[in-house]
Amino acid sequence: MTVVGQLNPSPRLLLGPGPSDAHPRVLSAMSTPLLGHLDPQFITIMNETQELLRQAYLTKNPLTFPVSATGMAGMEACLVNLIEPGDKVVVCYAGYFSSRMIDVAGRTGAEVTVLERPWGTVFDLQQIRETLQRVRPKVLGIVHAETSTGTLQPMEELGNLCHEFDCLLLVDAVTSLGCTELKVDEWGIDAIYSCSQKGLSCPPGLSPVSFSDRATQVIKARKSKVQSWYLDLTSVMQYWGGERTYHHTAPITMVYAIREGLRLVLEEGLEARWKRHWNNHKALKAGLTAMGLPYTAQEGHQLPQLNAVRIPEGVDDLTVRKQMLAQFGIEIGGGLGDFKGKVWRIGMMGHNSWPKNVLLVLSALEHCLR
Ligand code: PLP
Repeated sequence: MTVVGQLNPSPRLLLGPGPSDAHPRVLSAMSTPLLGHLDPQFITIMNETQELLRQAYLTKNPLTFPVSATGMAGMEACLVNLIEPGDKVVVCYAGYFSSRMIDVAGRTGAEVTVLERPWGTVFDLQQIRETLQRVRPKVLGIVHAETSTGTLQPMEELGNLCHEFDCLLLVDAVTSLGCTELKVDEWGIDAIYSCSQKGLSCPPGLSPVSFSDRATQVIKARKSKVQSWYLDLTSVMQYWGGERTYHHTAPITMVYAIREGLRLVLEEGLEARWKRHWNNHKALKAGLTAMGLPYTAQEGHQLPQLNAVRIPEGVDDLTVRKQMLAQFGIEIGGGLGDFKGKVWRIGMMGHNSWPKNVLLVLSALEHCLR
């Protein structure tokens, strides 16, 4: 029998694209003893968690809950439930994560039209209007905060535009919830998914989703069965909805975690939290720019919580990231897809977005680039 030692990982500061560090209060909530997943006390905790999530998403949607898996499961849950084979879907593609939306939508049997823009740029309403007019899709999918490029897509008018064409608006908010302005009801979002491990300062493992009444009706009126058993909301709804009928065993500890993460978000206040992320981004950007590291995202649309910058000519991506980790215990991210080896991604998300961390990452990076 092989005996391995007790877990003892080196201390790290997680300043990459996620996971970011969990807040100590979240870790402490996770050591709370387990309840049964149908225990009346746990059901109260589920209700509280759903209410906190509605407040964080700024929505009144009854169908709001954390899917028991990571952000990709949230993406998949939205797409497999809203789409039936042959339905038309438009996906706005300008980065790595929208390419996943295209892939997942295709697997549901949808007829997918891709509206493409260069990586690091945003979509304007006129382009989207023309595509909606031409294709008349059931769903339009878009990424709010594109983690591969560090781009923030404006969202304010998009819901109204989609509804003009009787189309549902699906939004990837994996990197925006808990970091930047996000207003589900005001922006007319019909389906949205996020994650626990970035702006909410929890470990990975849950994907908060929310569906408008319009989207919920579409799901309830499906003619065909949802292809995924686990993510079939017509039955998951019975557990996270009124009846609390067993569907799967909820990850109790992760629900404790997200409840605490959301309590922290709302204690701070959404506006104050969004402002904190902007302030620390401005300081970080000033430092990175002074070091000659230009941002990949279009000016005016750069994410405060995810700073993607071009690696200088002649500098080896991996050598620097390895040194950052070994010498300073700081993790930053490399590029994905087309940006592999060309871009670094520095996250300042949730509990990690503080002036102290701005100074730490800037001085460590400056040292590694000497
Ligand atoms: N969408 C975006 C924008 C992301 O940044 C990520 C992960 O970083 C995902 C989807 C997938 O989420 P997860 O890795 O939690 O499954």
